Amino acid sequence: MNVPDLKKAKIRTNKPSLYKDVLKINSDIFKGQKYFLKTYGCQMNVHDSEQIRAILENLGLEETEIMEEARVIVLNTCAIRENAHDKVFGYLGRIKHLKKEHPDIIVALGGCMSQEESVVNEIIKRHPYINIVFGTHNIHELGNLILNNHKDQDIEVYSEEGCVYEGMDYQRDSKITAWVNIMYGCDKFCTYCIVPYTRGKERSRKMEEIIKEVNLLKEEGYQEVTLLGQNVNAYGNDLNLNYNFATLLEEVAKTNIPRIRFVTSHPWNFTSEMIDIISKYDNIMPYIHLPLQSGSNRILKLMGRRYTKEEYLDLVSKLKSKIKDVMITTDIIVGFPNETEQDFQDTLDVVNKVKYDGAYTFIYSPREGTPASKMPDNVTLEEKEKRLQRLNEIINQYSKESNERLIGKVEEVLILGESEKDLNKVYGYTKGMKLVNVEAKKDVIGKTINVLITDAKSFSLDGKEN
Ligand code: SF4
Repeated sequence: MNVPDLKKAKIRTNKPSLYKDVLKINSDIFKGQKYFLKTYGCQMNVHDSEQIRAILENLGLEETEIMEEARVIVLNTCAIRENAHDKVFGYLGRIKHLKKEHPDIIVALGGCMSQEESVVNEIIKRHPYINIVFGTHNIHELGNLILNNHKDQDIEVYSEEGCVYEGMDYQRDSKITAWVNIMYGCDKFCTYCIVPYTRGKERSRKMEEIIKEVNLLKEEGYQEVTLLGQNVNAYGNDLNLNYNFATLLEEVAKTNIPRIRFVTSHPWNFTSEMIDIISKYDNIMPYIHLPLQSGSNRILKLMGRRYTKEEYLDLVSKLKSKIKDVMITTDIIVGFPNETEQDFQDTLDVVNKVKYDGAYTFIYSPREGTPASKMPDNVTLEEKEKRLQRLNEIINQYSKESNERLIGKVEEVLILGESEKDLNKVYGYTKGMKLVNVEAKKDVIGKTINVLITDAKSFSLDGKEN
């Protein structure tokens, strides 16, 4: 068994030889056998799973949704919150039981949790039936690890990021919308966040590679790309080339792919140049996810967010004045260490001023290894829960009002599939990222159609083809 020492990094080559083409492994060794892949967490993980899926299928495996049928089981984990951990460890119980009955099954655990030393140590001590642990920096090696696994536990996790690999295959979830990584990692080190430790420093892909990928997706008929990074606004800062996120956005817009979105934006890096480009091109969607986290300057400082409440509000007013019909959503954490009622009131004040079109709200829980985890977690759970409830009531009200404003309007909706709730309907998203269930024939799936909005709920709209 390889014993991990995450402190001793397997450091890969640094710039300028930062870019490498991935070595693809094709084999039919598992032909006729199945794999089961479970993904936790954010869009980054969802997109990583599209890569994992391609790697597994290049080994001859076919996907199954029934874990008990699988020869290879892969868990792509998330470390962002405590309950994400608990869910994975809860799931491992089922896998352990299965492994007892079928010792030939290969179990691999990857994603952000495997970048945490404490997790790896726990796996070694308590979960010896897991065959492979791989990290976020060496997903491309998974095929090799599976082929060479001889039932021992192989731990291959790099504590520092390496190359940006190009030429990877993706088995994408959709034939209509696609994720496109533009950068990896994050340098912001917000004090509560584990991502800079699990995903490493910011590394931007070269613009020509991104444009090549978008053009290819367009040729394949994709209608929408979402440019993906932990902090897309910092794109290019590490490259020392004469381009940045605004330049990239403009070049992607010029490919004429019908719809472009991007996540996630950090308010600190959001420039006027970017706002100008978003407002200039019709194919850049008027939708901005702009995490606030807190409205209190004191808490923002403790969080290491690098902006004040006033700067944030100023940015929002620029976005609203320059981008027609822009929709803005956010992330907010309640109960950060030392958050007082007054701090929370400041958060509510921002919410009442911005009137968000939607928001993801969370109770703070410490992540081991982050600076915030060393601060006293001194807001009681009861108080955190009360604040969350008060916040959600306001957020839901604004979200509902934002939806109700669209009743009677005709919206361009990209139809993605059959509605899960009503099989006679299809569903899709407006330019502003509102979910709409539409009365229309199934042959509109994959197309953008005009939809008359007939009704609004808190989290979705109803409409009919116009
Ligand atoms: S910007 Fe902050 S919250 Fe976002 S990934 Fe980076 S460190 Fe985490």
